Amino acid sequence: MTTAPDRPDITHYASVEGRWNPAKDDSLTVSFYGTSSMLIKAGKSSLLVDGFFSRPAANKLLDGPIAPEPTVIDACLDRAGIDRLDGVVVVHSHYDHAFDSPLIARKFGVPLIGSASTANIGRGYGVSEDLLRTVADGEALSFGDFEVTFIETLHCPGDVSPGTIDEPLVPPATFEKWHSAECYTLLVRHDTGCVLIQASANFVPGKLDGITADVVYLGIGMLGKQDQTFRELYWQHLVRNTKARSVIPVHWDDFMTPLLDGPLLPQPYLMEDVVPSIDFALEQGKRDGVTVLLPTLWTPLAPLEGPVLDS
Ligand SMILES: [Zn+2]
Repeated sequence: MTTAPDRPDITHYASVEGRWNPAKDDSLTVSFYGTSSMLIKAGKSSLLVDGFFSRPAANKLLDGPIAPEPTVIDACLDRAGIDRLDGVVVVHSHYDHAFDSPLIARKFGVPLIGSASTANIGRGYGVSEDLLRTVADGEALSFGDFEVTFIETLHCPGDVSPGTIDEPLVPPATFEKWHSAECYTLLVRHDTGCVLIQASANFVPGKLDGITADVVYLGIGMLGKQDQTFRELYWQHLVRNTKARSVIPVHWDDFMTPLLDGPLLPQPYLMEDVVPSIDFALEQGKRDGVTVLLPTLWTPLAPLEGPVLDS
């Protein structure tokens, strides 16, 4: 007797591997590390978004307090080839975005950038005050050859831990202590184009008016639990309105499995079936002439060089 699989098989979906134009010397590159964790690099500057490598297993999450694991973080930084940074950005303060970010910022002595709640996580982890950088809605920060604008957005519906973090958060703590607080869409501008990063599947009508992007890293976590109208509005606001030509779905992987064991596994059915969300993006992409490809781990991608178009 065979047992039913606990998660879908997504290996048949096309990935960016071999389907994307290679980086040039002056390209902006993005390396992906699961969930919405990624490294943006151009020229001499590099910025880590949502440093999350410890990825506590389900039993640890349910058993009680969790804390970042420095040895896992170091092994992942090593695997990613990260030996310097200019900052660590946290798009919202849930543990699957903010968990390891303060430790990484402290390790490299670089700013931890995000909401006031993220700053309180930094305080709890012993990041010095001069490295806690809170951002205002619409604020843009420069990192050498690229600039990142922080645009407030909403967390996807069904936030497991809403609210703010009003005191230093000292780990170990239960995962709910990492409240979401303000959420940001990141607009990354470079000489060769714009990349939009939307980690959580939601939108604020009108908020991205006038903004264009070439590529969207589109968070699809929990999108499978929303109705078709919501999904279509999400696509409309993030992809069609921004005139993006390529979409790279993110935040679909099971972040309770170790990153170094890769490849990424999709969320188990117990959490969410990610297949309808990937299929939705593919259908919308087909209709709008937008290329939709899944990201691969570790290898830098030059998102602004675009996909290899089928001839
Ligand atoms: Zn979240």
